[in-house]
Amino acid sequence: MGRESRRPRREDRAFNLEEVQALPVPRCRPEDVPLIGIAPMPAEYLQAFVPPRLDADGRSHCLGCGGILYVNWTMVHGEAYCVGCFFPTRLFHYIEGQPRLVVALQYHPDDLRRNERKARR
Ligand SMILES: [Zn+2]
Repeated sequence: MGRESRRPRREDRAFNLEEVQALPVPRCRPEDVPLIGIAPMPAEYLQAFVPPRLDADGRSHCLGCGGILYVNWTMVHGEAYCVGCFFPTRLFHYIEGQPRLVVALQYHPDDLRRNERKARR
């Protein structure tokens, strides 16, 4: 019994890429990310992400696990992932002619690829 009560392994908590890719998920558009006093983010840039999934209280929800989106940083500046399911998320956006934008946007699942080297372990 002791073994079964251990903390879930990372693989057990990770979002299921195939399941998320099977969902009809739109791509993010400038109107999905209203920024007050800042020029809209370019449509071409936003295509890499899904629209923010906000609840009535304005909290972001994760596409991978449905939970409120809390993130941990990665080693890459501005890049993070959902603490619940590791779904990749970018927080810092550097767009020419604009100040650094801080908006949590999750990558579109159709563009995600499984890391085959890790998956074989
Ligand atoms: Zn998640």
